[in-house]
Amino acid sequence: MSDVLLRRARLLRRGPLQDVLVAGGRIAGVGNVDDHAAVSEMIDADGRYVLPGLWDRHVHFEQWAQVRARLPLADAGSASAAARLVAAHIAAHPPATDVAVVGYGFRDALWPDAPGRELLDAQSGAVPVVLISADLHSAWLNTAALRRYGHGDDPTGLLREGAAMGVMAEVGTVSEPVIDMWCGDASSAAAARGVVGIVDMEKPWSLDAWQRRIVNGNRRLRIVSAVWPEHLEDAISRHLHTGGGVDGTYGLLTAGPLKVIIDGSLNTRTAFCHDPYPSVTGAGSEERGVLLVDLDELSRLMVRAKEAGFDCAVHAIGDAANAMVMQAFARSGARGSIEHAQLLVDSDVPRFAELGLIASVQPEHALDDRDVADHYWAGRTARAFPLRSLIDAGAVLVFGSDAPVAPLDPWLAIAAAVHRSRDERPRWHPEQEITVAEALAASMPPGRGGLSMRDGDIADLMVLDGDPFTADPRTLRTMPVAATMVSGNWTHRIGV
Ligand SMILES: [Zn+2]
Repeated sequence: MSDVLLRRARLLRRGPLQDVLVAGGRIAGVGNVDDHAAVSEMIDADGRYVLPGLWDRHVHFEQWAQVRARLPLADAGSASAAARLVAAHIAAHPPATDVAVVGYGFRDALWPDAPGRELLDAQSGAVPVVLISADLHSAWLNTAALRRYGHGDDPTGLLREGAAMGVMAEVGTVSEPVIDMWCGDASSAAAARGVVGIVDMEKPWSLDAWQRRIVNGNRRLRIVSAVWPEHLEDAISRHLHTGGGVDGTYGLLTAGPLKVIIDGSLNTRTAFCHDPYPSVTGAGSEERGVLLVDLDELSRLMVRAKEAGFDCAVHAIGDAANAMVMQAFARSGARGSIEHAQLLVDSDVPRFAELGLIASVQPEHALDDRDVADHYWAGRTARAFPLRSLIDAGAVLVFGSDAPVAPLDPWLAIAAAVHRSRDERPRWHPEQEITVAEALAASMPPGRGGLSMRDGDIADLMVLDGDPFTADPRTLRTMPVAATMVSGNWTHRIGV
């Protein structure tokens, strides 16, 4: 851990450029730092913004790492184009021994040519290749993969339904070294977006896997590892609690909250709501979604968590689910967050502040789901993703991606929250927009108290190559990050 002096950094929108001294993993001076004789590295920030690093408070990291490792095929307009993408991918990322190349997302219904094993063989040689269709109902394999997965006598290479799903299950099961390698790649990619920490909601508990990865050298992110109910007693018997560090992990790994899911999702119409969903046929419907845990059971679980020192992170999407979670927090006295909080009754908005609850939201989902919400929550969308209302009511807001549902990139969430549109369409409920400063603060640890850098802070920071406060929507989504630092160590660095 070497000392670094960042000269001429922009820390605030207005005011003079300042120097930032990093020593011993902490901010050791802000302002005009003159005494730099002992500094081992001096960097001219040249007026770039230097801000606290970003957090993603809701990630399923292994799933995200696995999705990232797959070749995207949605843009392939023909079988030969898909095969060429495979060849380019193998050339750019030579796969580790014994690892199949997996592509995802092809749509062959309107292709002018037919997918076949020879076509794929010609572009992939001895590397096993499995390409999965967008609807998950077929898989296109080359000869090496057909042999490996027990379909060596299939002449076409195109497997459907049961046979395809069997292969998909097999390629989804990878060894520890492979998943750790993919997690390493995904950690680097996150650092390159200014990310310094994540809350990992991976099921059932990612703590031991992260301890192994950190010991083996993946030290690019702080990890808060949430525990699911089936491992709560195990966690308690190991004397863990929320915020408790894990030995030998360089201060990077802590136990997270208890994660509980109590309803479904909007897309599947399983989010638990006060009002029925409009039925697909247009006729009346009584469907209000599903409730997976009742109030008594949830309260009991939360009391147990609270007694053992665990916060609770409770997944609730529908307004009725959110209301029930608030009741359970009030009853149990537990601390923590509601994850998603997508649809809220107006009178529940101020309860976040009253109960000291964190609203852990994923702004990019508002844009992913705006059409679905307009349909299934027709007449209710004024209270969907109500970020402005939450902030105005004093709620502490934190952002996440729910990767792999959305990419692990906080700038997407920030831009979605600020602009409520990512294309040429009008902004969706612009009255719920928040400011860039508010969106950045929601991407930093709750309770941090703004974007300024202070003496004694942990040196988790990022250097930007753009101005987020004046950026247009597109630039904000793709904000160039020149460098990222965690605990005084560079985890990403280009051009500074
Ligand atoms: Zn999730």
